[in-house]
Amino acid sequence: MKMNAVYEKIESMRDDMVNALCSIIRIPAISPKSGGEGEAKKAELITRMLNDIGFDSIERYDAPDNSAPTGVRPNIVARMKGEGDKNLWIVVHMDVVPPGDLRLWKTNPFEPVVKDGKIIGRGAEDNGQELIASLFALKALKSLGYRPKMNVNLAIVADEETGSDYGIKYLIDKGLFNKEDLILVPDGGNSEGTLIEIAEKSIVWIKFTTKGKQCHASMPDLGINAFKASIILANRLIEELPKKFNATDELFDRPYSTFEPTKKEANVPNVNTIPGEDIFYMDCRILPLYNVNDVLEFIQSVARDVEKETGARISVEVVQGGQAPPPTPKDAEIVGMLSKAIKKVYGVDAKPGGIGGGTCAAIFRQRGYNAVVWSKIDDTAHSPNEYAIIDNLVGDAKVYATLFLES
Ligand SMILES: [Zn+2]
Repeated sequence: MKMNAVYEKIESMRDDMVNALCSIIRIPAISPKSGGEGEAKKAELITRMLNDIGFDSIERYDAPDNSAPTGVRPNIVARMKGEGDKNLWIVVHMDVVPPGDLRLWKTNPFEPVVKDGKIIGRGAEDNGQELIASLFALKALKSLGYRPKMNVNLAIVADEETGSDYGIKYLIDKGLFNKEDLILVPDGGNSEGTLIEIAEKSIVWIKFTTKGKQCHASMPDLGINAFKASIILANRLIEELPKKFNATDELFDRPYSTFEPTKKEANVPNVNTIPGEDIFYMDCRILPLYNVNDVLEFIQSVARDVEKETGARISVEVVQGGQAPPPTPKDAEIVGMLSKAIKKVYGVDAKPGGIGGGTCAAIFRQRGYNAVVWSKIDDTAHSPNEYAIIDNLVGDAKVYATLFLES
């Protein structure tokens, strides 16, 4: 009864939700690190939307950041009291990535276009869809006079796309979260809405610098070819790493570890010189059952072998990443609640799984909190012509309303 009334209410607000999502897309909120002015203006608009809904409290947590024109990066926490003491958090982010190459966009990234059941614009999916969906779920409840079972807290954060120092890390350091809180980060998922992400692989980015001796290409015996040493090393690593660390874990979409050579820095500008230095990088996504240090030790031993064979000196440097935190348990309360709500609204069976990359949930897990990631999206985040599907915007709002009322 209650639930159907809420679903009807949400359906009746479909156009309002579309307009609300369009209005937040119009304010870019790009991080100063990526050349933007931060989230201040978007936070103002969102605060006005929150004020209309009737939360029990709306607080601002401004993280000082001199590189932002306002000197701060705003975070908003809006709370609605429930019948019990338990806290359910929805953590969404306001910031967006830059549009990238504008020639790849069919429309202006910050002038949203509504077409064929989609809203097209930067930030439509990442993370606007879920920001508006969670907000309108609470709006529907409130306008019908219903109270959620648990305390529902929205954390609307800054700086997710450039490290979260001024966003969720700042809020965690303020002591806002308890270990027994239920935490949902709707910032990833799949087109069917069936992936509840509970784990991630360890991400390690490695820089390899080989140093040899530069000389004329016609007399290679007088030098040591650093590029040749790089090739031998890279070859051996792509051959041996997947063999040595060959475990699989079906929890993950790609159920194995990946070791990919990616970036290559330029060495000599001319063809007839043997380079004395060469630099390349690898992106490794390692299943969490492996200790990253064991992988690095193995890589070092391969590098030592190649040094002996080639005479080059090789340095191996981790430029980013580290050990993934332990997964959120498959039987965590939030996983069960969410699957029930997803089943009710979308009629599909959602399953816990793992992904290769990081979100705010990864930061929670690193600090010992359980957190899950879910949303129904086509994974257009960070791409040109990013879009949100309006049916998902409305459907996900119903999933939240179900969570709030039935859990
Ligand atoms: Zn995101």
